[in-house]
Amino acid sequence: MPRSSLGRLGPFILAAGVSAVLACSRDASSGHASNAPPPVPIPDGGVAAPPELDGYVQKLVERCESITDDTTTEASLHEARAAHDRGETDIALSTKGCVRLFVGKSGGVETFSAVMSAPFGMRIDPTTFEVKRTAAMITWSTGANGTREVRGDLDADGFAELQESVVPNVSLVAERVEPSGGVIERTTAKVGADGLRVEITEESEEDGKLAVSAKYDGARVSRKCTSDPPPGSEPPPSTPPKPAPPFPPPPHEVPCTSEQLRQLESLLEKATAGGADCMQATGMQDIRFRMLRQVATTSFDFKCTDDDSFVAANDGGYGNVFVGRALIWINPILFTAGEAEQTATLYHELMHFFFVHDHDIEALADGTPSLGYADRVYACEQLCFAKKPNTCHLAACKKKKICEVDKYGFEQKLGKEIDSCWSGHQVGALCRKGPGERQWCTTKTECDAACGGQECESKSISCDENCR
Ligand SMILES: [Zn+2]
Repeated sequence: MPRSSLGRLGPFILAAGVSAVLACSRDASSGHASNAPPPVPIPDGGVAAPPELDGYVQKLVERCESITDDTTTEASLHEARAAHDRGETDIALSTKGCVRLFVGKSGGVETFSAVMSAPFGMRIDPTTFEVKRTAAMITWSTGANGTREVRGDLDADGFAELQESVVPNVSLVAERVEPSGGVIERTTAKVGADGLRVEITEESEEDGKLAVSAKYDGARVSRKCTSDPPPGSEPPPSTPPKPAPPFPPPPHEVPCTSEQLRQLESLLEKATAGGADCMQATGMQDIRFRMLRQVATTSFDFKCTDDDSFVAANDGGYGNVFVGRALIWINPILFTAGEAEQTATLYHELMHFFFVHDHDIEALADGTPSLGYADRVYACEQLCFAKKPNTCHLAACKKKKICEVDKYGFEQKLGKEIDSCWSGHQVGALCRKGPGERQWCTTKTECDAACGGQECESKSISCDENCR
């Protein structure tokens, strides 16, 4: 089950990654220090939020602040997609209409959109001292040159802690910032020369300074291979297929039947409704909003293939870097598991709008339970759709350590119990010595030895320093 290779970057969300063979940025550079990407300021360019947004938010909060039983469902998402298709600009995403999509157009073209929901809060206007109500919100604005600015205030305190700038087909820089201006996390994705590869650098704060936490290649096309274990099954298949190449040739297309297309649209809504609730329960509200917007506003292009090397693939949606691409491939011959598994697979593909796989990890950890803990997409898929996920999946999905996640909080929010995980915290470590010299090791110590103490990345989610 090589899940193969290519992922996409998500906006800052991106997580896990994978690196494609080529990627190895470390191979290409001799020194980390000099290789560290310069801080990229995100210009406040793009299109400003339309003035009517403020009044819209005030009214929404007033109407919705006492509503506690609102939820997004397959039916509410189906209706939202139809409303967007009809050209509507004020769209309910949930049953009570308190999760909403606001669309701004200029000359008939969509230049602005916002997804918002509870929690609600307030801020004081610094010039008028007026108290304004706020909602958790992400906004997307597109400038005339196609660049896109994304801002997110997920805790409704009036400050956009999420800032992202996308130059289509070129780059994406996503940051989490503090009101003081400090940057806590940054993900940078650069499109490679062949347009298929993305180089991803993830930085997080350590001792008050940003340090590179991962650097890898991902691919524009993410394929999910055939032998994915059914959700709920922990043991890997005994004979994993060979890892797929990171940049495979386009698959052979066969026509999808209209019944298959209808079914895929329905699975998409099911995967989004379940996935959005799950993301909210993990606290990854940003992913929830991005997923809701992606599905509400996108006309998906489904294609079928008889290529038996993969079951499903997302071609090109990553992080809005590849504009206008929402192509999902399905192999109907392999896509035959029960509806629960199919929904999980669709959710996996949807996650590729936000995260890419690190190809090295995908290829090397494949066939071991470690993959579900070392790769964010697989971890979230298991967490949200497996029958028996565990706290390790929760940690890996959030890209946190096991002691940093709130198992009970997650269970309470989602109304589903997950197992504790008593083993598997170590996950493994990857030595990226050189292209073709990658090695997946059981522990950091083993990895350091294999790697000569260099270029060894531990994927441990243990909080015990002795378990790396
Ligand atoms: Zn994948």
